[in-house]
Amino acid sequence: MPGPTRSRTPDRLCAEAVDLARDAAAQAAHPQPIGEHLGVVAEGDRLVTHFFGSRDPGYPGWRWGVTVARAARARYVTVDEVALTPGPEALLAPDWVPWSERLRPGDLGPGDLLPAEADDVRLEPGVLAEAPGEEPEEEEEPAGGRGAVTDVANKLGLGRRRVLSWVGLQEAADRWEERFGPETPMAQAAPASCASCGFLLPMAGSLRQAFGVCANEYAPADGQVVSLSYGCGAHSEAAEVPKPQRPAPPVIDHLGADPL
Ligand code: SF4
Repeated sequence: MPGPTRSRTPDRLCAEAVDLARDAAAQAAHPQPIGEHLGVVAEGDRLVTHFFGSRDPGYPGWRWGVTVARAARARYVTVDEVALTPGPEALLAPDWVPWSERLRPGDLGPGDLLPAEADDVRLEPGVLAEAPGEEPEEEEEPAGGRGAVTDVANKLGLGRRRVLSWVGLQEAADRWEERFGPETPMAQAAPASCASCGFLLPMAGSLRQAFGVCANEYAPADGQVVSLSYGCGAHSEAAEVPKPQRPAPPVIDHLGADPL
């Protein structure tokens, strides 16, 4: 319903029907009382809406809108519609956001499914992907054909329809760098970087130049991908840990006796 800001001149008889509109609003708002008459706007020829404040504690800033009308050349005004509508100061629910845009890292639980969209920019066709419009081959293939390539790809662990795209690689690298990169306080205070640490497991693929996996159970990044420029105090060559001193053997006094 439009707000009370239109410039059109309201029909005089409809605009004067404040009591009729108030009764209709009070009936609709019962048992809550209604507030002041806030104004009137013209919706069309002999069609006018009166607004009353809402006193319902559950609807602060809302208002009752009562639309009244009369027929041409008629003097009687009748109620057309009554509705509770939000005013400029009304407390409203935030705009609805699709679940796919609300999802955050860590939201996925056991049993949940989150398939990547067909046009997910983080992925691109892998070795097994068909070319666009290409039909699967039904004829017997010559030796060394596509099927042979697929077999080799499967054996090499490349048997995936989609693989990370350049965008996916970049986004992953940025995330990992932020969590376990050279700018973190842990890395800034580390005696040396992961690149020289014996607990670093090298990665495969193009990101191996910049990242590896930490395999030190005492390190904060154990089991995580770390930048080669990251580091922590558990570095394998951090420092020689001083051996604890052996306690001196107990001295037994053979000459004296303790009073019991
Ligand atoms: S123990 Fe520390 S320095 Fe070594 S790989 Fe793990 S995070 Fe890097």
